[in-house]
Order: sequence, then C-alpha cells, then structure tokens
Amino acid sequence: MESILVLTHADETGSALTKASLEAVTAGVDLAARLGAELAIGIVAKHASHAAAQVAGAANRLLAVQGEAFAQARFASDAAACTEICRAAMPAIVVAPDSSRFARVMAVVAARVGGAIDTHITAIGGAEAVEATRWFYRHRIEAVITRDKRPWFLLLDAGTHAPYAGEGPHAQPDEIAIAAELPEMRTQVTGFRAPKLDQQTIRPDAKLLFVAGAGWTKKQPDGQVHVEEAGNLILRFLHLSGASLGSSKSLVDQGGEGQPVLPFLTHLNQVGQTGSTPRHPKGLATCCHGEEPHVVGWRFIGERRAVSLDANCGWTRGKADVVYVADAFAVMTKVNELLGEAASRS
Ligand SMILES: Cc1cc2nc3c(=O)[nH]c(=O)nc-3n(C[C@H](O)[C@H](O)[C@H](O)COP(=O)(O)OP(=O)(O)OC[C@H]3O[C@@H](n4cnc5c(N)ncnc54)[C@H](O)[C@@H]3O)c2cc1C
Repeated sequence: MESILVLTHADETGSALTKASLEAVTAGVDLAARLGAELAIGIVAKHASHAAAQVAGAANRLLAVQGEAFAQARFASDAAACTEICRAAMPAIVVAPDSSRFARVMAVVAARVGGAIDTHITAIGGAEAVEATRWFYRHRIEAVITRDKRPWFLLLDAGTHAPYAGEGPHAQPDEIAIAAELPEMRTQVTGFRAPKLDQQTIRPDAKLLFVAGAGWTKKQPDGQVHVEEAGNLILRFLHLSGASLGSSKSLVDQGGEGQPVLPFLTHLNQVGQTGSTPRHPKGLATCCHGEEPHVVGWRFIGERRAVSLDANCGWTRGKADVVYVADAFAVMTKVNELLGEAASRS
C-alpha cells in the first residue's frame, strides 16, 4: 500500500499555511481516500501550531519542522527541513505545492532520499496505481505519468484544487529536529522589496485576467497612435478592477523591434503557447486578434470575452464566449468611468 506525505509551508505570517499548500492537502486527502492509504502532513513554518490546526482533521500523522530558521524561504534550510520530514515519514508518494519556495528545493530533496520527481502536476488520478497529469504546453499534449520509483514527488500547480478547509481537532505535530546541524547559512534574508500594488500587474489570485494586444499601439482610425492614452486606460482599469494583466506576444515583442511600447509590460505578462497559461474565472482580451498560439494560453480561463475592431478575428470564430466588435479605447473609457463611479459610491 502506498503511504502519502503532503509537504506544506507557511506564508509570510510564519504560521498560516499558504493557499497552494492547502490545495496540496486536498489532493493528498483525495488520493489517500482513493488508495486507502495513510496520510501524513509535513509542515515547514516559523510556528507550526496554527498550521497544524488548519489540517489536523486531514492527516493520520502531523510532522513539523519549526523555528526562526524556517521563517523565510532559503534553499539550505528548506531543503534540510523537507529532507528530514521525508526521512521521518518514509512515504511512497510526496505531494507538495509547486510554489517558488518548494520548487527550488524539491528536486534536491527527492535526490537526497533516492526518489524521483515530476513538476507542474495538475491532477492526480488512478485507483490502483498513481497517475499524475501534466501539460506539455508547447507541444499541446496532456500527459498521464506513472512511475515505479519511490518515493515519487509530485509538485502540484496552484489553482488546480480547492484549498483544504476541513475541521479537525487541535493536534500537536511531532516536531522533527534537524538530525545534523543545519548547514552553514550563507543566505541572510533581510526583508522584502516588492513593487507597489499598481506596478505589480501579474496577480494570480485575481478574478479577472485582462489581456492587452498589439492593437493598443497601432494606428487608430484618426491615423495616429495613442500609446500614452492606451497605457493610462489599462493602468486605470487594473487599479479599479484589481485584474491581472496579460499580453499577446506581438505587444511584448514590440520593444525589441523599436515600435511604441507600454512600459509596464514584460515577457512575463505574455499569455500563450510560448508564454504562460494563467488560471482565472474570467478573461477579457482587448485589441488582440485571438490567434491560436495566443489562445492556447487561455485554456484555464473560465469565461472568455474580447473587444476587437475586427469582426473576422479569431475570437469571433468561436474562441470567445462573448465578443464586442468595438473600439477598445471607447469601451475601456466607458468601463473605467462606470468603475470609478461605483468606487466613489462605496
Ligand atoms: C511558435 C509560435 C508561438 C507563439 N506564441 C505566442 C504566445 O505565446 N502568445 C501570443 O500572444 N502569441 C504567440 N504567437 C504569435 C501569435 O501567432 C500572434 O502573432 C500574436 O498573438 C498576435 O498578437 P495580437 O493579437 O496582439 O496582434 P495583431 O495580430 O496585430 O492583432 C491586433 C488586433 O487589434 C485589433 N485592434 C486594433 N485597434 C483596436 C481598437 N482600437 N479596438 C479594438 N481592437 C483593435 C485589430 O483589429 C487586430 O485584430 C506565437 C507564434 C508562433 C509562430
């Protein structure tokens, strides 16, 4: 019988589990129920007791590595903590969130305990054997992977499961002492420097993905380009709506080609076959043609809408749920006006 360990970590408070960790717990609970397997949950946190209470009802066993050294993400301490939890739990399957904190240590942890690892897992299925699903986006293939090697580490993409929210008795986790002394810590975390909210345009938890296309910087019916106005409209909309900002490849490539650019866009905003595949309940594409290599990045967007001047664009050919054949400058000016009025009323 497979035994399962879910590895989790706390958020910046140092004591509450991250949403992605709670999603991994849901995946672990489902898998354990299907296989009739024992489930252990490992916690890496500054203070583990609150985190333990969040998931106590889910696990047969709770293990924690806690203390000041584990308050911050750092390769040496996180790799040591996860390795020790694995050695204590001796699992066959390890499920962990594909967060930046765990993604950078988990391959090493798998190697240290003689296991194998797969990343960007979106679903874990199978009743007899464990079957992990992931996308190979550039090839547009969805693969189902099985492995004989144990322990098998599965790093789970965020947004694929509901966060675990079960009630449970207050449980005190077994605390794992790091067996050897922690390795020399060459990295000191002295604090965070994050862009201001308005500059932080990629917001994975936003309800809406707003996508800007190259049309924003093209000549408009008056024969002129209106890049500054476009930038102001988009930033105002992001500010008022809290939406995340995506872009087409054509728009983010323009800087390198000497064309007018929107300064707040980078290749990190690019959605599509050679960009990202974000997950949001809704998406609104503006000034974008809806070509296939772009639209493949929309596969996890729940409801798709688009504003394009071209009544023959890809969106109108069945790729969007609703298409407004209209001038996005006019539409977004009106939308911002309405959102501004609503904000001033509340
Ligand atoms: C291997 C490969 C990988 C690729 N990967 C990606 C990828 O990851 N992501 C991606 O985006 N693309 C990708 N592409 C490129 C993709 O094929 C398209 O070239 C690109 O998406 C086009 O961007 P666009 O729609 O913004 O620009 P355009 O094709 O120039 O379309 C601009 C649109 O804006 C409309 N418009 C102009 N003014 C207005 C206005 N005022 N109001 C409303 N609409 C207006 C126009 O009618 C037009 O439809 C890839 C291509 C290849 C070959």
